[in-house]
Amino acid sequence: MFRSTNLAILTRLDSPGWEGTCPASKAAMKYIDEFRDLKLAKNLSAKIEKLARGRGRYNFMEVCGTHTNTFYRFGLAKLLPENIRLISGPGCPVCVTDASYIDSAITLAGSGDTIITTFGDMIKVPGSKSSLYRERAKGRNIRIVYSSLDALRIAEENPSKDVIFLGVGFETTAPTVAMAIIEAKKRRVRNFFVYSAHKLIPPAMTAILKDKNVALDGFILPAHVSSIIGADGYKFLKKFNIPGVIAGFEPLDMLQGILLLVMDVNSGKAGIVNEYNRVVHKRGNKRAQEVMQRIFAPCDSVWRGIGRIPKSGLAIRGEFSDFDAEKRFGVKKVKIPIDRRCLCGEVIKGVKLPEDCRLFRKVCTPDNPKGPCMVSSEGTCGIHFRYK
Ligand code: SF4
Repeated sequence: MFRSTNLAILTRLDSPGWEGTCPASKAAMKYIDEFRDLKLAKNLSAKIEKLARGRGRYNFMEVCGTHTNTFYRFGLAKLLPENIRLISGPGCPVCVTDASYIDSAITLAGSGDTIITTFGDMIKVPGSKSSLYRERAKGRNIRIVYSSLDALRIAEENPSKDVIFLGVGFETTAPTVAMAIIEAKKRRVRNFFVYSAHKLIPPAMTAILKDKNVALDGFILPAHVSSIIGADGYKFLKKFNIPGVIAGFEPLDMLQGILLLVMDVNSGKAGIVNEYNRVVHKRGNKRAQEVMQRIFAPCDSVWRGIGRIPKSGLAIRGEFSDFDAEKRFGVKKVKIPIDRRCLCGEVIKGVKLPEDCRLFRKVCTPDNPKGPCMVSSEGTCGIHFRYK
């Protein structure tokens, strides 16, 4: 079932131009340059082309938005034969956060004694009527932080305010937020809260595989999430008889991943291959898993554009409810009518492309996003806008 592979083909070759790395930063960039070598990329491309020749279409989903970014930013489509199609998946946490969550966060920001803290990519996501960005311009106390521990520090510095951290992210982010809650308890910080909208990737992949409109031949599995859940986190793929490759985020990682998927499809194999074994281990990061499980319990969660997926979210356990913003402030989520013109739901499932949306580029742009897929650096619409 599980195999691991080494990119033994990698050697350092000068390849000015492809990535345009600044010579001054080359020493520091050593381990990135090696994975952006054009000559090696062309070798992989030739192998893929040879193995895929004469066969039908291969539909591979890259689950994570950072892979989508790599694919378009480095123009990898030009290195692949036409019968290989990459479909962007649901792995952008901002894009799948429901509009009602944004509305609730805006309500919380309006209560006067509250400071909302959030990662920067959430700030422009549109709710039903406004965004955190617009509310901040109106004078609401909304601050961008780089980690949940920054939010905890803000809480310690402002004991008369309630500091709420917007917990948005997948298995990669949740352990760090769990640690902030453990730390808040240890330091007896009583004005720090987390509004959890964390989500889990395997249940979302299962929902996509059960969707009759989506036909896939394999997955490029998310690198960061895999570093936490490990290759074992994808055992469920076996029952769908579909292969998956855990690939790193550099261009050669992705090409190697695609090559391995083509080989698996051709030979009828349906296991998990770990191309990213310089980071990902078979069982993942046990410590991070323990911390996450100590603070959070799986719960049903609504994914923007997809709907409710059983056991795909993380709720703060009762034992730590003092830090749960939802319970402390009685957050009520209101069902919001969706803008039917925005195709984010279909884009997230890989059924439509951003170019199929009539708002794309004309009305919806990174400066004026109409849907979450245009906001984040991992959002498919934003990536197509910038690179395609
Ligand atoms: Fe939604 Fe904008 Fe993408 Fe259209 S282009 S699907 S409105 S985010």
